[in-house]
Amino acid sequence: MVTDRPRRLESYVAGVWVRGDKDGVTLCDAATGAPVALVDSTGIDFAAALAYGREKGGPALRRMSLHERAMMLKMLAQALMERKEEFYALSTATGATRPDSWIDIEGGIGTLFSYASKARRELPNSRVLLDGDVEPLSRDGTFSAQHMLTPLQGIAVHINAFNFPCWGMLEKLAPTLIAGMPAIIKPASQTAYLAELLVRRIIETGLLPQGALQLVCGSAGDLLDHAGDQDVVTFTGSSATGRMLKAHPAILKNSVRFTMEADSLNAAVLGLDAAPGTEEFDLFAREVFREMTSKAGQKCTAIRRVIVPRAHCDALVAALGERFARLPLGAPADENVRMGPLASLGQREEVRARIRDLAAEAEIVAGDPTRPQLVSGDAEAGAFLSPVLLYCDRPSAARAVHDIEAFGPVSTVMPYETTDDAIELVRRGKGSLVTSVFTNDPDTAQELVIGMAPFHGRVLIGNRLSAKSSTGHGSPLPGLVHGGPGRAGGGEELGGMRGVKHYMQRTAVQGPPGLISAVMGRWIKGAPGRHESEHPFRKSLAELRTGDQLVTGTRVVTLEDIEHFADFTGDTFYAHMDEEAARANPFFDGRVAHGYLVVSLAAGLFVDPAPGPVLANYGVDGLRFLAPVYPGDALQVRLTCKEISPRMNTEYGEVRWDCCVTNQTGATVAQYDVLTMVAKARGEEK
Ligand code: NDP
Repeated sequence: MVTDRPRRLESYVAGVWVRGDKDGVTLCDAATGAPVALVDSTGIDFAAALAYGREKGGPALRRMSLHERAMMLKMLAQALMERKEEFYALSTATGATRPDSWIDIEGGIGTLFSYASKARRELPNSRVLLDGDVEPLSRDGTFSAQHMLTPLQGIAVHINAFNFPCWGMLEKLAPTLIAGMPAIIKPASQTAYLAELLVRRIIETGLLPQGALQLVCGSAGDLLDHAGDQDVVTFTGSSATGRMLKAHPAILKNSVRFTMEADSLNAAVLGLDAAPGTEEFDLFAREVFREMTSKAGQKCTAIRRVIVPRAHCDALVAALGERFARLPLGAPADENVRMGPLASLGQREEVRARIRDLAAEAEIVAGDPTRPQLVSGDAEAGAFLSPVLLYCDRPSAARAVHDIEAFGPVSTVMPYETTDDAIELVRRGKGSLVTSVFTNDPDTAQELVIGMAPFHGRVLIGNRLSAKSSTGHGSPLPGLVHGGPGRAGGGEELGGMRGVKHYMQRTAVQGPPGLISAVMGRWIKGAPGRHESEHPFRKSLAELRTGDQLVTGTRVVTLEDIEHFADFTGDTFYAHMDEEAARANPFFDGRVAHGYLVVSLAAGLFVDPAPGPVLANYGVDGLRFLAPVYPGDALQVRLTCKEISPRMNTEYGEVRWDCCVTNQTGATVAQYDVLTMVAKARGEEK
C-alpha cells in the first residue's frame, strides 16, 4: 500500500470526499520512515459538515428502530470483516505487528458485532428507551411518571487518538449509531490513513444512511466552535489537549456533553501472597511484559506502575529482564517480530524525554532508551525503542513516577510493604482506566479491589484460576465500562448498553398513566386496559396492541391444593405444612400457599390452551410475592400486554405481559412480567 508518491488523504463531509486546499503534512511509515500519505483539512466548512449530520443523518437514523440500527451494525461488521486483510496491510505502516493490528482491526469490528447482538438481546425494538420503573405520584393512580431516553438530535464529534485508528473509531461509533445519533470522526493525523481507508469501506457498503458518518482528516480547525447544545464531543488523547478542548468556549456555553479519556498511570499490584514460585508471580510477570510490549506500550490501558512487595522486586526485575532479552524487536511486517516501532520518530523523541523525566526519580534497570536491539528494520529511519524498565525505591516520596506517562514500552517498578501502602501508591495515579491485582488470597483481593475501585473504571483480578480464560489487563471489552475518574479524563465509554445511553437524553415524563403509555409505546401501571371478547393469546403480533387486557375468573386455593403441591414438588417448607410453626413466623397468620403455586395457578387462569400465535413462555421478570395467600383465598389475574418487540428477520417477536394476581379483597398478592414469544402472523387455524 505504500507508494512512492504519498496519497493525499480525503475527508468525507456532506456526502462527498474532499481534499484540503493544501498538500498538508507528510505522514511517514513508523518502521521505514517512507512517506505514506499527506493530510490536510484546510478549507473544509466544518459548520456545514455538522449541520449536514444533524439535518440529514440524525433524522434518518431516528426513523429506524433500535433493532434496525443494530442489524445495520451487524451487516457493516460482516462487510468490514470480509475486507480485513486490506486494513492489516496498511496497518503495518503504523508500526503495528499482526497481533497489534488484530486488537485494532478485529477488536474494532468485534465491538460492532458485540453491540449489534447485545442491542437486539437487551433493548426493545422501539425508538425510545425506558429507564427504570413507573413512579406513582398520586394516591388514586391518576398521576405518575416514567423516565425515558430519546436520541440527542445533534451530532457526535469523536476526536480520536493515534494508537488505535480502527478500534478507537468503531468502539465509539457502535453505541452512537445504536442510539440513533450521527457522527463525525476526527482521527489523529499520525495514523489517519488507516482511519480513512476504514471509513471509505464503510461508506462504500451503502449500509449507513446519508449523513450518519463523516470524517475529517487533518486538523479540526474551527470544528468545535460550532458544537451545539444537542451535540456530544468525545476525546481520546493527551490530558493537555483534552483539558483545552473541554474548556472550549462553545463546549462551556452550550453545555455540550464532553467525554474525555486521557493519559492514565495504570498500575498492576502483586499481592503479598504471590511470592516468586507461585503461579500468580509468573502470571504477573507475563502480564507486565505483555502490556509493556503489545503495541509497543502505546495503549491507554498499558501498565505504567508495577507495584510489588519489596522482598520480590529483584526477582521481578530479573524475570522481566530475561523476557526483554529474548524479545524480537523489529520491522512489524517481519513475522518473527513481537514488538514493532512507536508510531513516529516524534513520538519516540517524546517518550525518550519522558524517560529522562522519570529517571530523575527512578533508575533504569532494564533496556537502553538510546540503542534499540533490532532483529530487523532500520534503527535510524524507524521509531524503534527497546522496552525500558525503571525502579523507584521510595515511590511514596516520588512524584514523577505517578504523574508522567511515557506513552511507550516503559514501566516503573515500585516496592511496597503493606497492602494499605499498595493501595496508597495506586491512588497516587489520581484516577486510572484500569489496575490489576494478582493474588490467590480472597482477603487481599477484597482489600485491594475495594480500596482502589473508586479510582478506576475497571479492575482486573488475575490468578491461577482464570489464567487461561482471562481477557487480560489491557483489553477494554464492549460489555465493560472503559474510562476512569480524575487523571484518566473522568469519562466513561462502552459498558454495553450504558454506552448507548451517553448519546441519549433522559427525561422524566409526568402525567396521567394512559397518556404516558401512549407516549412511550409501552403500557404502564395505572393506564386503562383494552378489553375485547377475543383472548389476547389468540392475537398475532401484528394484531396485538399494548394495553390489550384479560381479566380472568377466580380460583379458590384450598389446603388440599397446598398439600398436593408440597407432595408433588417436594417443597414441604414448614410455612406451608405446619400451622403452628407458620403462625410463629412474623409474616404469616397460619399455613400459606407456596409462591410458585400462586404463579402456577395464575398461569392456569390466564392461559388459552389451544395452539395459537403464542409460541413459548421464556421467563418472568421482577417476580414479587406481595401478600400471603391462605387456604380459602380466591385468586384472580389481570394480564395486560405491556410491550411488543418484533424481532427482525424472524417470524416472531417478544411480548411482555404485566401480570397482577389479586385476592378476594383486591389486594395484590403477586406481581411480575411474563415474557412470551408470539408469531407475527396467525397460522392456519386447526
Ligand atoms: P493529542 O492530545 O495531541 O491528540 C489527540 C487527538 O486530539 C488527535 O486526534 C488530535 O488531532 C486532536 N487534537 C489535537 N489538538 C486539537 C485541537 N486543538 N482541536 C481539536 N482536536 C485536537 O495526543 P497525541 O495523539 O499527539 O498523543 C500525545 C500523547 O497523548 C501521547 O504521547 C500519550 O501520552 C497521550 N495519549 C493517550 C492516549 C490514551 O488513550 N490514554 C491515547 C493516545 C495518546 P491531530 O492528530 O490532528 O493533532
